[in-house]
Amino acid sequence: MAIMITEECINCGACEPECPNTAIYEGGAEWELAGKNYNQDDDAPSGAKGFFSNDFFYIVPDKCTECKGFHDEPQCAAVCPVDCCIPDPNHVEDEETLLARKEYLDGIGR
Ligand code: SF4
Repeated sequence: MAIMITEECINCGACEPECPNTAIYEGGAEWELAGKNYNQDDDAPSGAKGFFSNDFFYIVPDKCTECKGFHDEPQCAAVCPVDCCIPDPNHVEDEETLLARKEYLDGIGR
């Protein structure tokens, strides 16, 4: 499954540079995938919705691989000082799916 950031986030920004998939964005910021920009009104290409936040950092499910293919554990969760990066119950995915996403992201350059 993807990782999500809860409202416990203190906006420290420690997670963003650690993400190998550029899946983490600052609150209110547009996110990008395959050369296209998305904002708070857009669903993700996968149909995922409700992940955007104007108030704290957020993770785009279409770009999160739980760090599969890069690291043994989610790097955002590893560095978060308040433990607000948690598994997202709305985006449960198996390892095969996550690794396929990593390959897709490799192919488009993220
Ligand atoms: Fe990025 Fe890894 Fe966190 Fe997913 S789990 S948002 S890929 S750092």
